[in-house]
Amino acid sequence: MVSLVLQCEQVLPLELKRLYDRRMTGQGAVTLRGGMQEQTSPLNDQHDPFDASAPQLAAQWARIRGRLQSDVGEIEYRTWLKQMTLAGADGDEVTVHLPTRFLRDWVRGHYGDKLNALWQAENGSIRHVEIRVGTAAEIAAPLGQSLAQDPPSKPARVEERGDSRPDARTDIAVPLDARFSFDNFVVGKPNEFAYACARRVAEHPSSQGFNPLFLYGGVGLGKTHLMHAMGLELTRRDTAPISVAYMSAEKFMYRFIAAIRSQSTMEFKEGLRSVDVLMIDDLQFLIGKDNTQEEFFHTFNALVDAGKQIVVSADKSPSDLSGIEDRLRTRLGCGMVADLHATTYELRISILEAKASRTGVGVPAKVLEFLAHKITSNVRELEGALNRLIAHANLFGRSVTLEATQEVLHDILKAHDRRVTIEEIQKRVAEHWNMRLTDMSSARRARAVARPRQVAMYLAKQLTSRSLPEIGRKFGNRDHTTVMHAVKTVAALMERDTGFAEDVELLRRMLES
Ligand code: ADP
Ligand code: MG
Repeated sequence: MVSLVLQCEQVLPLELKRLYDRRMTGQGAVTLRGGMQEQTSPLNDQHDPFDASAPQLAAQWARIRGRLQSDVGEIEYRTWLKQMTLAGADGDEVTVHLPTRFLRDWVRGHYGDKLNALWQAENGSIRHVEIRVGTAAEIAAPLGQSLAQDPPSKPARVEERGDSRPDARTDIAVPLDARFSFDNFVVGKPNEFAYACARRVAEHPSSQGFNPLFLYGGVGLGKTHLMHAMGLELTRRDTAPISVAYMSAEKFMYRFIAAIRSQSTMEFKEGLRSVDVLMIDDLQFLIGKDNTQEEFFHTFNALVDAGKQIVVSADKSPSDLSGIEDRLRTRLGCGMVADLHATTYELRISILEAKASRTGVGVPAKVLEFLAHKITSNVRELEGALNRLIAHANLFGRSVTLEATQEVLHDILKAHDRRVTIEEIQKRVAEHWNMRLTDMSSARRARAVARPRQVAMYLAKQLTSRSLPEIGRKFGNRDHTTVMHAVKTVAALMERDTGFAEDVELLRRMLES
């Protein structure tokens, strides 16, 4: 389902208006939201990222691994990164080990920049990550030693410099990944609107109606890619140079906390406010951190007032983000809000074709179709599967065939076979009882509509890992208590009515197979 959230008046240029209109007239629903609910989420523990004493370094490494795992997805993580061990730190360099040359080269080529960026986000004193061949046993002693002799912690770079206008790009921001360019972004229906908005902002930052640009969508659908692409485009411009600061909300938070500790919040703020374009990725991680949220809000206002561009990404729309203050939520939704939708089969095929053609390994169309059918979760997982196939082909000098694919990706395919989405459940259930799919989320309460809807909620609870509130949202923004009631009602009815129970069981089996 397409949903656009409009919170303030928006000024749309023509080409965007076309896309926008199409969404409004298609299945899309435009949600106009007025009042917002205040919700809170618990505060997470935060460690001091700039204190590089031994346990801290190990803790930082653990967090980086966690972050890598969630960023690249389980498949890629297990294939390439799991065997990586921290070998030690020396000055501004950390060394990680991998057991083989092949793995080392692959990780260097594919994850080197990311490792650098993650280390820098965790620990401002680390400037370089060295990736070498080694095993955990070999490095046990040096690890202990080097951890004990860690360099004294350095404050964030911004503070070290005497000048009043630090180079925000190098000191505050994370480097941009050249692979995440607009050229490498495959455009299709689910992402064309977000893509058009990103392009537009990269060409004309700070134009009316596009500030801030708020990109949202599920994991692995291209938010970070688009932000990097915008950054790359903006910094490559022939016209007056533009300073772009890109960082994750987590990094923003770490920097801010470090600045408070070292009593240098003024420098931190000045550094941020000196940029022309500020991009904050994964804003949901700022949630619940009152201080940092407050600081972000002020920075945000100062930048927008000074005519600078803000780009923000999150996993939900501004109105669905819980735990942020209403005034920040309102400001976030005041520019352009664009969502990245789950991929379609066509988009998955195009992405696979583009990625496969760049590797130089021939991948038959049949294999690409197979992957596009089987791996529907997100682009990251799709990429992970393709990379693994190609690495396998390179490693063993075998050509890619359907049989080889099934063998190499055996574990991934098994995991994906079991995944059912709420949308599929709604579709199957609606078909079964001959009702319109739209009534799954409509307000109609007639028994003929309400009962199947309850069954769909029941199956969603049984077959997916979604929470009650998440399920409720997929059924026309219903409350979680409604879902709970549906689950109980259906279970009770199944006990009383065997015919009904058979229907539900049949649906369950169809969905699981
Ligand atoms: P998100 O930030 O939304 O979680 P990313 O931007 O990190 O997702 O994308 C995950 C991976 O998928 C990246 O490697 C990215 O390059 C790739 N990707 C996502 N969407 C596309 C697309 N439309 N075309 C090409 N690659 C894509
Ligand atoms: Mg991302």
